[in-house]
Amino acid sequence: MRCEACGVSVKDENLRRHYTSVHPKLIPPKSSPQQRRQKRPLTRNMKRALGVVSAGVAALVVLAVLLQGVPVSNNGFPFPCTDMSNLVYHWHPTLTITDSSGNVVILANIGISGACMEPLHTHDTSGTVHVEASVNRLYTVGDFFSVWKKPFGGPTQMLVNGTAVSPLPSQMLWDRETISLTYSGAFP
Ligand SMILES: [Zn+2]
Ligand SMILES: [Zn+2]
Repeated sequence: MRCEACGVSVKDENLRRHYTSVHPKLIPPKSSPQQRRQKRPLTRNMKRALGVVSAGVAALVVLAVLLQGVPVSNNGFPFPCTDMSNLVYHWHPTLTITDSSGNVVILANIGISGACMEPLHTHDTSGTVHVEASVNRLYTVGDFFSVWKKPFGGPTQMLVNGTAVSPLPSQMLWDRETISLTYSGAFP
């Protein structure tokens, strides 16, 4: 643009400095054409676009707030992923299962998927169930079956620490307890 006072060609951003050094007594024009363009009122379309954008931002903020405190996605497991840094207790009952063809292998890594560890899980095939609870509650053998995604079904015998009890999925899991289940047919 040109300086209105002396006609010299001056870059927009230098106009103020040009006035201070060359025309110190004059007041520089309030805004350069570029600034005037920026001040042009928003068109209806721009306002609508801004509205959409800010609604989107607001929705994201609401979503972020809602997601806070929700545990890591639990991969279709029945319980929220356990918070390993905040365990209430860590117990090791042992489960053995026998069916018509002999010992059923309880696989390693039941209840573990990516970063998610269920409060009931296995690390090996020994039958040791790791009960690592970050909430103040107990779990049952049926809970372990639902983490395992196996039906508890109808075992014909259930021994808890060697003593026969009614074979029910509501049997609580305690530290160092042994539970052995016998199925007459084939374990699913
Ligand atoms: Zn453990
Ligand atoms: Zn563990």
